[in-house]
Amino acid sequence: MTTLVHALGYPRIGAHRELKKAVEAYWKGELDRDGLEQEGARLRRTHWQDQIDAGLDVVTVGDFAFYDQVLNVSVLIGAVPPRFGRIDGEVDLDTSFRMARGRAPSGEPAAACEMTKYFDTNYHYLVPELYQGQTFRIASERLFEEVAEARAEGYPVKVALTGPVTWLWLSKAKSDGLERLSLLDDLVATYDEILGRLASAGVEWVQLDEPALVQDLPGEWQGAFESAYNKLQSTPVKLLVASYFGGLGDNLGLAVSLPVEGLHVDVVRAPQQLTAVLDRLPPYKVLSVGAIDGRNIWRADLARLAGELEDAKARLGDRLWLAPSCSLLHVPVDLDNETRLDPELKSWLAFARQKLDEVVTLAHVLDGTETETDRQRIEDASRALSARRESRRIHKLRVAERLARVGAADTRRANVYPIRATAQRERLALPLFPTTTIGSFPQTQEIRAARRDFKKGILDVADYEARMREEIALVVERQAQLGLDVPVHGEAERNDMVEYFGEQLDGFAFTQNGWVQSYGSRCVKPPVIFGDVERPEAMTVRWSEYAQSLTDKPMKGMLTGPVTILQWSFVRDDQPRAKTCRQIALALRDEVADLERAGIAIIQIDEPALREGLPLRQAEWQAYLDWAVECFQLSAAVAADETQIHTHMCYAEFNDIIGAIAAMDADVITIETSRSDMELLDAFQHFDYPNEIGPGVYDIHSPNIPERAWMVDLMAKAAEKIPPERLWVNPDCGLKTRGWAEVEPALANMVEAARELRQRY
Ligand code: GLN
Ligand code: ZN
Repeated sequence: MTTLVHALGYPRIGAHRELKKAVEAYWKGELDRDGLEQEGARLRRTHWQDQIDAGLDVVTVGDFAFYDQVLNVSVLIGAVPPRFGRIDGEVDLDTSFRMARGRAPSGEPAAACEMTKYFDTNYHYLVPELYQGQTFRIASERLFEEVAEARAEGYPVKVALTGPVTWLWLSKAKSDGLERLSLLDDLVATYDEILGRLASAGVEWVQLDEPALVQDLPGEWQGAFESAYNKLQSTPVKLLVASYFGGLGDNLGLAVSLPVEGLHVDVVRAPQQLTAVLDRLPPYKVLSVGAIDGRNIWRADLARLAGELEDAKARLGDRLWLAPSCSLLHVPVDLDNETRLDPELKSWLAFARQKLDEVVTLAHVLDGTETETDRQRIEDASRALSARRESRRIHKLRVAERLARVGAADTRRANVYPIRATAQRERLALPLFPTTTIGSFPQTQEIRAARRDFKKGILDVADYEARMREEIALVVERQAQLGLDVPVHGEAERNDMVEYFGEQLDGFAFTQNGWVQSYGSRCVKPPVIFGDVERPEAMTVRWSEYAQSLTDKPMKGMLTGPVTILQWSFVRDDQPRAKTCRQIALALRDEVADLERAGIAIIQIDEPALREGLPLRQAEWQAYLDWAVECFQLSAAVAADETQIHTHMCYAEFNDIIGAIAAMDADVITIETSRSDMELLDAFQHFDYPNEIGPGVYDIHSPNIPERAWMVDLMAKAAEKIPPERLWVNPDCGLKTRGWAEVEPALANMVEAARELRQRY
């Protein structure tokens, strides 16, 4: 009775980001279509071989994509928005690239599809668009070709696809009055056809990813699951419905009783659901247990897991399958490529390749077929993990003691906003509609080169510091010429807003190759938070101090907030996220205090990731928001009344979290509004948001120069919702991706707009 071992998906980017390089070369015209296809095929083969080498029983086909796997499904079923042209035959690769990024080596440019985060991950998928009269058909042969490719190489194949209900759940109806669920029957009919084709191609199992099952589903969407899978009942392939990123919760009954041959559940995020699922699983079904964390980089405690899964094995026999909790797309490829990581820390980690080994060993133990290699692996894991539990590099008494001393008073400013506002007005003497920016200024080639050379040791500290000071002086000078009321230093020294702080904090580690796909060819290398966080010394003060010395205007100090640092890192799994976040918050609190002491009167603590930290289930929102807000406050509340605390969040949905935003009690919040015509200020208006707001008056993502009149107009709209004396004028995000040629005229217009507004109000 052997346990089948599989992976829901494998990283496709390549251990050395080969896919990124190939795709970008193709976009630039440096690699032709055949070259790109060959590289794709080579990577697929490598990744299938990785799975076989590790000892998996099947390889997964369908997880590969040149851009995004959700987009691949949209193309497969012919859901191409009309603006990309009418296509009767095969939807080609360039059309999919145009959908993804607006342009491709061939075909007319058109507006790209919207991109958004896949559930609670940092992976972005392309939002499927649906229009009146939408039909579906098999519009791409790619998947079938990949199946043929794998079979020709002799690999045992399982196909993985985004399931029909989740695909529809992630889609957006673009025509007025179009009900997405009205398209379900047609959609399922096309899936049925696809499954039929896969069966004829010799595929036995198809995994349909349905992570929507771990979210709060309205009744009609639960009904959609029943109806869709009832219709797919007679498909000739066996179906494995895969849930992940959380527990099935109130969808558990629905999920176990879908008329399919198998169910995958995530017992890393939701270990408590295993027993309930086992109790309710019909006797004909396979249960794939996701026992190895597909979202984080920690080595698994194999001995403990084997114990926990014994019961499942006893009850299911060979109806038990094992896998990582979700696709390994969300972790880096191969720990073996990390040659510079400290060996002890490295012994605590597992990336995608190592996770395959872990699942295989776990299965062998449950089957009673473990080899010497397996025994060694278990022993190594146990030894490494017990060392990790006790390590002094992780657990620092000082940090624990300090955290224990934190009380309610530490998370509250000394006085309420109206009193602080008076103190700040007196100190800062800013005009009505003060102008500022979000922090970064254009990151030119030279700046990047200087940072790179410094890292490589080509530039010494003194030269590097001089180079950065030169840049700061330039940025401050240009802001003076533009007439900005609250200048910034420009963030030239920062490669990334999280990495910059992580590198200076104890408890963080950085990999060389730990790349994870974020969207398309873009990858991120999240820091690893492995231990108690401490700040050995001030991180930003010397730059801010220098910048302040160049101007009489109040220089705004720039920090990344605790929630954002947490959210964009791989986080410890040996303590609650909230606790790690509090440690980061305390480190930032000290930085706020130091900036204040250095005479910095305005400090911005960016929290662009606050919203994306929201749990997938609404019932858990409040608990998250409570600690997230508390952490922000812990960082900020050390500031005296006359120090003005700003925060920045660059997104457009505040309705459901406005209470938490207000509880953060930042003196000023800058947000994105330019694209929504100030509509999102409604949430602030209805809440009677008491503090100051800088609604972004222009979209920094666009190269267009905003007109003065247009910005005045937007601000006039804002002033209908928020009293003018509480409004700021600023762009909607940092300027680092723009060039000076765009930034200077845009800001000049913005400052003009503010001047005009001052006359009007
Ligand atoms: N201060 C950062 C910048 O200006 C903020 C970036 C962000 O919001 N993502 O670049
Ligand atoms: Zn932003």
